[in-house]
Amino acid sequence: MKCSVCGTLNNAGAVFCRQCGSKLGVSECPKCKAVAEPGAQFCSKCGTRFVRSNETAGKNCQSCGFVNPPGTTYCKRCNQKIL
Ligand SMILES: [Zn+2]
Ligand SMILES: [Zn+2]
Ligand SMILES: [Zn+2]
Repeated sequence: MKCSVCGTLNNAGAVFCRQCGSKLGVSECPKCKAVAEPGAQFCSKCGTRFVRSNETAGKNCQSCGFVNPPGTTYCKRCNQKIL
């Protein structure tokens, strides 16, 4: 899990950054500012998808769920733009 403050890569499941002590996995919804639960994929309040830096293994299409290779802009299955 990458620290959003200092960019240090921490172990998956880490709660605090080992470099700067910032709490990991807690982020605000960019849309409604609700606090996101750790590991949440979508905002529980408004449904906005959280884009996380640890998703480099593949990009889930928002509309069909197909996992596209990293760097894909349009879903290879349904051609929707991937955020
Ligand atoms: Zn940090
Ligand atoms: Zn929200
Ligand atoms: Zn798709």
